Amino acid sequence: MPSDPLQLSAVEIVAAVRSGDLTATACTEAFLDRIARTNGTLNAFLCVDREGALARASDVDARRRAGRPLGPLAGLPVGVKDALCTADLPTTCASKMLAGYRPPYDAEVVARLRRADAVIVGKTNMDEFAMGGSNENSAFGPVANPWDTSRAPGGSSGGSAACVAADMAPVAIGSDTGGSIRQPAGLCGITGLKPTYGRVSRRGLVAFASSLDQIGPMARSAADCALTLEAIAGHDPGDSTSLTDAVPDYSRMLDKPLTGLRIGRVPEHFAAGLDPEVARGVEEAFAVFRELGATVHDVRLPHAHHGIPTYYLIAPCEASSNLARYDGAHYGHRAEPGGGHRAEPGKGHRAADGRDADATAAFESPLVEMYCRSRAEGFGPEVKRRIMLGTYALSAGYYDAYYAKALRVRRLIRQDYLDAFESVDLIGGPVSATAAFPLGEKTGDPLAMYLVDMYTVTANLAGVGGISFPCGFTAGGLPIGFQLQAPALAESLLLNATDRFQSLTDWHRRRPPLAV
Ligand code: GLN
Repeated sequence: MPSDPLQLSAVEIVAAVRSGDLTATACTEAFLDRIARTNGTLNAFLCVDREGALARASDVDARRRAGRPLGPLAGLPVGVKDALCTADLPTTCASKMLAGYRPPYDAEVVARLRRADAVIVGKTNMDEFAMGGSNENSAFGPVANPWDTSRAPGGSSGGSAACVAADMAPVAIGSDTGGSIRQPAGLCGITGLKPTYGRVSRRGLVAFASSLDQIGPMARSAADCALTLEAIAGHDPGDSTSLTDAVPDYSRMLDKPLTGLRIGRVPEHFAAGLDPEVARGVEEAFAVFRELGATVHDVRLPHAHHGIPTYYLIAPCEASSNLARYDGAHYGHRAEPGGGHRAEPGKGHRAADGRDADATAAFESPLVEMYCRSRAEGFGPEVKRRIMLGTYALSAGYYDAYYAKALRVRRLIRQDYLDAFESVDLIGGPVSATAAFPLGEKTGDPLAMYLVDMYTVTANLAGVGGISFPCGFTAGGLPIGFQLQAPALAESLLLNATDRFQSLTDWHRRRPPLAV
């Protein structure tokens, strides 16, 4: 076993801490030092809890020395997306709206990580309120892709993906509403699992689109994701959408042979728009699965091409409702009375009768003015766009044409999956149409950014699970991702198939040539 903790898998770290070959303190220090050296370049962490992490690690070491029981993640450094509430650390959702916010409680997933004796090293950067696919919507600056720092890591869990890819932590927690675990995992060359809707409690996850949001693990390998999922999954009476099904022992089911496994391939995935290098990598991954004994069959998802318009109605509708709470009174940034962000006379808000009004006259009351100014100052442009899109689509007269219709199409997309899973066990394909794109390339074109999610949103709309993992590299040295999707609650199959793939390939072991 190499002595450098940065080279160890999560499974190896917890085994080494348990056996005494590695102290949790030495391990935590190694990752904290790596964070200190790389975060200036990558901006993957919004806050690092050096003191708290070391205290936690020394507690694990003391308990081991005393022969007391240790949790299943004892001594494992973990980065947590800043969308999850932490009572001892700020939780900003990468928004000015929540800058400096300290939640009164831990998210259920954070509480479970702590109970499992994991060492939370800090909070990872993300797109503001998880809205985005490049991490460029963070109010605290973009994250750089460790494979090429001029490129985006993907999003919205870009900080979590970059943190694992750059060895700043062996495991990170992400959330996935339309692809935010799988797409950044794919673009950063790591493994990321979006569990079935309801498999992991969302209590304490800052809500974006509540019927789609799901928390999951991001790590180098399926085995490390399995270890983490075991600790965070399971029923939580505090989340009414959480499933009551028992949590399987995922780690024990990884090495089942894939003989006879039927994997679906959707011909439409390979239509125009898919980068040829990505297509080649994905086809080669199917060949690896054949070598492992699986068979590959064409399947149809006839309504999948409606995924983007359906998602980009439902998600903004739910967001506009969820984000109503940030009004400067109940939650969030509060504008100074009459100060700061005053609209210029003539250019500012228009009064109801249409005449130009100065900032004060434009508001019907000081309270409304405070709400408006707080939201105008606190939210970034993409979040405002989503709130406006969602509010419009939910408004009287448009609700049936947009929101209700999107819900009906969502049912069709879900039915497509149910039909496809009658004849195959898993569906394979690309995670995104291209490898990591340059920072700034899509920021001026929201539609181009939304289209990045075309292969991932359908799993969220259907509520099923999906995993993404590296299946090759472009000629320019960028990772290519492969996605597997499974019927509800088939996480063990997703992890098993990915682990078998990773037993024959070493793409997931490659490290970015990061100069720091
Ligand atoms: N990129 C998608 C969006 O912007 C997905 C985000 C997510 O999964 N949180 O909505």
